[in-house]
Formats: sequence, structure tokens, C-alpha cells
Amino acid sequence: MHFNNQYECLGKTFYVKTNPVPVANPTLIKFNDELAKTLGLSSIDLNSTDGAAIFSGNYIPDGADPLAMAYAGHQFGGFNPQLGDGRAILLGDIETPDNKFYAMQLKGSGRTAFSRSGDGRAALGPVIREYLLSEAMFKLGVPTTRALAVVTTGEDVVRGGLVPGGIITRIATSFVRVGTFQYFSAQGDADAVKKLADFVIERNYPQACEAENPYIVFFQSVVDAQVALIAQWMTLGFIHGVMNTDNMSIAGETIDYGPCAFMDAFDHDQVFSSIDRRGRYAYSNQPSIGLWDLTRLAETLLPLLADDTDAATDIAKEVLQSYVESSHKHWLTGMRAKCGLSADPKLVSATAMENDKTLIEELFDTMADNAVDFTLMFFHLSRLSNNKQTQASEHENACRDLFAKPEQFDEWLVKWRKRLDEQTLSDDNRQAAMQAVNPIYIPRNHQIEAAIRAAEDRNDFSVFHELHDVLQNPYVIQEGKDKFMLPPKPDEVVVETFCGT
Ligand code: AMP
Ligand code: MG
Repeated sequence: MHFNNQYECLGKTFYVKTNPVPVANPTLIKFNDELAKTLGLSSIDLNSTDGAAIFSGNYIPDGADPLAMAYAGHQFGGFNPQLGDGRAILLGDIETPDNKFYAMQLKGSGRTAFSRSGDGRAALGPVIREYLLSEAMFKLGVPTTRALAVVTTGEDVVRGGLVPGGIITRIATSFVRVGTFQYFSAQGDADAVKKLADFVIERNYPQACEAENPYIVFFQSVVDAQVALIAQWMTLGFIHGVMNTDNMSIAGETIDYGPCAFMDAFDHDQVFSSIDRRGRYAYSNQPSIGLWDLTRLAETLLPLLADDTDAATDIAKEVLQSYVESSHKHWLTGMRAKCGLSADPKLVSATAMENDKTLIEELFDTMADNAVDFTLMFFHLSRLSNNKQTQASEHENACRDLFAKPEQFDEWLVKWRKRLDEQTLSDDNRQAAMQAVNPIYIPRNHQIEAAIRAAEDRNDFSVFHELHDVLQNPYVIQEGKDKFMLPPKPDEVVVETFCGT
């Protein structure tokens, strides 16, 4: 591992150097060969007992200089000035052979100065959940932190009762969060905010360096990255669950897979998180919560945006205003693609596109009304022809079957096909384009639960491995893997997810 620890260079107000606390009996459960290659790491060396020692924190590789990062954050709207890595440790920054930087972190590696009353550990269940979800997310094409390895520790942790402990090694282009900026801003440490911004610009947004005021371009870039990210979540039915400012990455990657889940039956107000009693982070609230979080970031950056506070506030407002417009645009673009509605001016007239938003909203409203499975709906729709003459196809019937009141779907289908008639895109090309954006396999909550149960209760990781492998190719039909396409049976439905803290 070639470490070049950039974050450490920021200085000791940014972290507390902390070594992982060794564990009794580390066993490597999963090693991500593909990601290792990207990082320039040797699978032969690391997919081994040596790897188990490193990814459990029992052995600190040469060049690593472990530390716990300081950050603050708004949790469910309330500000906490002191959070920080309470159960995670940054081993260091890896520099790849092509000079890219990635941060490598152990999560579940023992207590740190920021652990408060926590044990600094992670249960195996949430570790498995994060591995499956983050790798599925990557394969779905969504920016995310990634998972390099999972180990079991051979020790139990107390979560209600005793459960087996695990550690995940995760990789990000940066683990700096909105909350990292808030940490220094709340202390009135303007120099540290500037230093942090300069660090993030150099590492994640180098194009901002060339601007007259790099901080404005930096802020705009973070806003653009987040708006695009959240729009992708929306098109996939993903609910993050805890969009606190400490869980919003400055790099625009999905981070902190706690009580998150992909929706089965569509519901605008779906919440899974056991701690989100008021639905603050419900599915349809995510874009506006994104803006709320970014407004907190703006507050920390004001002194960098302009010398004069009023001028700085105006700049921040303008950038935040762009979020609102951009959010609507991304939503419409993403949902049009899901529905096969071209927006190419060469293929469709502006008049024909006028009602697209209404048409899409009608679909979601009827899906909600009928509790239609989000992913299956678009799977079948992507394979539905626009040929009205022939008998209803297998996929048309399958769509109808998803609705308790099929006549609602029939009505929508007529309008949808009318809109398809308006575009000069061949039916085959339209279907291919839809199939490229509508996944067949998502990490369904009940499947994740089954993988966790087998691992925790029976020390059986085969369910985890099979699910993981299916999720490697989410857009390709895989023979014999039908059960991974299907929504849960009534007794398999997972109504609540837990952050595992
Ligand atoms: P999260 O809700 O997972 O984003 O975590 C919020 C804060 O609680 C972060 O500062 C975490 O480091 C800390 N935390 C969560 N779980 C634990 C734990 N088991 N031990 C120590 N700190 C924790
Ligand atoms: Mg967090």
C-alpha cells in the first residue's frame, strides 16, 4: 500500500491520532479484488491472513498513520458541535499508480476521542449491509464510498443482546463532510475553514483553482454534485435515511449507509429509519433536505465567498437558488429516461414534451395508490412495446398485475403510448435506452436481511456472497436468479431499519 497522507498534513486540530484497538480473532469474509486493482493494491498479498490482520486493525501497514477525524453536524435539525469518527479510523490516504488519492478507513475499529458513550465497534449486520449497499450503488452507477473488505472480529458487541462484531474497510475520494466545515466554523476558526476548503479544492475540485474566487466555484461544484447525486437516488427509489450534515460528503458520494434502503412498494412518504419518527428524511423530502444541508455548508463558507457579508450572502443565495432549478431539471431528466420519453429536440417537439412532468407524476401517484413495486414496474415498462395492435404482451400483463386497480394503469398506458408516438425514436432503441437505466436487481431490504440473518445466526456467508454477486450486474438478466428480482412476501417485509449504532 502506497500511503501519502494528505489529510494528516492539515494539522492536529483536524483529528486525533488514534490506533485501532486490536480484536481477538479476525477472519476475512470478503475482499474486493476489483476495487483493489483500482487502488493499485495486490490481491495476492491482501486477500489473506495478512489482509485480515490489516483490515481488522490488528496490524498497521507501513506508511499508515491512523487518526480519527473531527467533525460536527446537524442531526435531525439540531446542531451537535462535536461528533467526529467515534467508531471509524482513517488509516491514511492511498496514492494510486496514476496519482489519484483515496482515503482508507476502518469502521468498527474501537473507541476514539470522539466515541462519547459508544463502544467504537460495529455489529456484523450493519457492516454486511454497508458492503452490499455501497457496492450495489457503485454498480448502479451512483457515486458512493466503496467497500474494500469485511472482517469478523471474533468478539461480540452489545446491541440489545450480544451480536457478532465486524469491521468494514471503506474507501472514499474524501471523508470530509459538510459537518467538518461546521466543526471549525462553529468554533469561529476561519483559518481552519479556509485550510479545509483549500484541501478539498486541490483534491476534489481542482478546476476551481483557476477561478477568480475559487471558493464560489467550489461551493457551486459541491451543490452540483449533491443535486445530481440525490436525483440519482430518487430515480432508483433509494432512501438514505439519515441525511444529517455529518453524513453529507463534500465529494458528492453517497456515504454512511445506516438505516437506508431501496423501496419496494412505491410511497412518496416512505421512511425506513427507526429513528426518523417524523419522516424528515422520507423519500420525497430528500431533495429539499439536500438543500437544507447545503445551506448549512453555505453558512460556513460565507467569509470566503466575499469580504462583505451582504455580498457573500447574495452569492450564497444565488448558488443555492441554482440547486432548486437544477433539482427539478435532474428529476425530470432522470424520470424521462426511466419512462423512455426522449427530450432530444431532433426526436421530439417541445409541445409534445410539455406534459411530461404531469405524465410522470400521474404514474407515481397511481403507483403509490396501488402500492406498486418501484423496480419491477420499470423493469416491465422497459420491455413493453408501443404496438397497440397486437394482444397485450407478457410485460404489459405483468405491469397490469402490479396494480390493485389495473384500470388506472390502462388509462396511463394510453397517454404514455400517445406520447411515445410523438417521438421519432424506434421502439427497439427506446426499450434499450430504458433498460440501460432501469435496474433488474437492487439490494432489496428483505434479501439483505436474509444475508445478515444467515451470517449472524449461523455464521453462513453464502447468502451474502450470492446476493453480492447478483448485484454486480444490476442491468443484466441472470439465469436462475429470479428470486432477487422479486419484492418481499408479506412475512418478509422489513418495515424498519436500524443504524446499528
Ligand atoms: P451516524 O449516525 O452513524 O452517522 O453516527 C453519528 C455519530 O455517532 C458519529 O460521530 C459516529 O462516529 C458516532 N457513533 C455511532 N456509533 C458509534 C459507536 N458504536 N461508538 C462510538 N461512536 C459511534
Ligand atoms: Mg455518520
